[in-house]
Amino acid sequence: MENLKYPKSYKCVCGREAKLYLINITTKFKDTYITVVNVPTYECLSNHVKMAQLTRVKIKQLLKEAYNQNLKIIEYID
Ligand SMILES: [Zn+2]
Repeated sequence: MENLKYPKSYKCVCGREAKLYLINITTKFKDTYITVVNVPTYECLSNHVKMAQLTRVKIKQLLKEAYNQNLKIIEYID
């Protein structure tokens, strides 16, 4: 499923093309590790990784939500 909020690629600050990857991020939240699945991130060939500010905010919300529901894994959804 294509998400138009996240273009497939954009030009990185270094001038190379940064491509969209959906990755899983595991973070410690309070006393537990929670994995957020399919997080949109961008990475160029020079390994510059970039995540939108909106994505970071959303991850925090999802971690809280997962923690409250006692989930170890939660899918990234906008
Ligand atoms: Zn770059």
